[in-house]
Amino acid sequence: METPERLMELRVPPGRPAELAKRDPGSRLGLRDKQAGEARLSELAAELSVLSNRLWAEGRRSLLLVLQGLDASGKDGTISHVFKGVNPQSCRVHSFKEPAGVELAHDYLWRVHASCPQRGEVGIFNRSHYEDVVTVRVRELAPERIWKRRPRHIREFERMLVDEGTTVVKVFLNVSRDEQRKRLEERLENPEKAWKFRREDIDDRARFDDYMAAYDEVLTETSTDWAPWYVVPADRNWLKALAVAELVVDALERLGPRLPEPEDGLDGLVL
Ligand code: AMP
Ligand code: MG
Repeated sequence: METPERLMELRVPPGRPAELAKRDPGSRLGLRDKQAGEARLSELAAELSVLSNRLWAEGRRSLLLVLQGLDASGKDGTISHVFKGVNPQSCRVHSFKEPAGVELAHDYLWRVHASCPQRGEVGIFNRSHYEDVVTVRVRELAPERIWKRRPRHIREFERMLVDEGTTVVKVFLNVSRDEQRKRLEERLENPEKAWKFRREDIDDRARFDDYMAAYDEVLTETSTDWAPWYVVPADRNWLKALAVAELVVDALERLGPRLPEPEDGLDGLVL
């Protein structure tokens, strides 16, 4: 099964630089029409519902979507739009915050591994172990020798997940500086969204370039044949959700989960 060309464009080719500066956050990926895009998203959401149900029924393998992106890149909205049709029983979302308590008593991958999907589940990481490289680096939470070696751990950790039956789809939501400002301003003004705004967001915004440079490096170092990165243009909400839905449906189609055979002797059974 061939991956659609549109998705291949988003891929960071393993062993090659991510070149974020050359990727346009406002791209439409050749799709002109928002309405047609939204209609296609509804179709994909229905496909996702069927495929994830088969994965759940099969109960042998799992899929993990890793969502990374700066503040206001649209991680929360992408999750709610793309997965609206998925049975919550077969789906597990985990939002990673700054580690605290017992998490700090372990290595940084401990909580991550414990939050990975079980066989049959679709797992979604809203932020992930990549915070332990990028945010730790930019906010200077640990010295360079600590975060510098983490991409090596992560490549091998993800290889283990894949070897053991988890398909890993990694998405970086690429938002522009201007669009991020608009969304953060909107957040402050909208009473339904103001709770999301935190003082640290201002400091992080001032470090926009540092974050982008750190992401550029980590995406380059951790895009592998077994768990490649995809950079999704994130300035248009409809396009972003559509691209992520396509990536997830494509990965599930490749897996081709199969429903268990019905028990023998059910044919012609009268109730
Ligand atoms: P939000 O996703 O807006 O709820 O914010 C979560 C915050 O937790 C963000 O500022 C992240 O950068 C931060 N965070 C998540 N994981 C880590 C981590 N491993 N180390 C440091 N900060 C983290
Ligand atoms: Mg936030």
